[in-house]
Amino acid sequence: MSNYSGQCLCGAVRYDIRGPISDMHACHCGQCRRQSGHFVVGGNAARADFSLTESRGLKWYRSSEWARRGFCAECGSALFWDDGGDNIGINAGSLDQPTGLALESHIFVDDKADYYDIADSLPKYAGPDRPLEAE
Ligand SMILES: [Zn+2]
Ligand SMILES: [Zn+2]
Repeated sequence: MSNYSGQCLCGAVRYDIRGPISDMHACHCGQCRRQSGHFVVGGNAARADFSLTESRGLKWYRSSEWARRGFCAECGSALFWDDGGDNIGINAGSLDQPTGLALESHIFVDDKADYYDIADSLPKYAGPDRPLEAE
């Protein structure tokens, strides 16, 4: 039994997560914005809990010296953030509904675009809330 499942828009990438997703954050950095078209909401799953059930569309883009971003080469969906550590970042929009998850914080708000405001009262961090979330 999986706790969560998800996929890209076209289905050429599908995954299961057999464990919790923690630290649901909205990342307002310029890399997330350009890759997704807006800010990205994501959370962390333990790498050991994560498995790909369809990977024919999966490509990885090395977006920085310490992280790569997984996306679907068929449909363009932005899916994963991976720094090689114990967790893998899951873009929440790719999860099957209902998730039962809730946004917990905003990160990289100093890098936020000028065309929207953050309207909630969740914690906001100028940069990463944890060193490993650096982009
Ligand atoms: Zn796809
Ligand atoms: Zn980001």
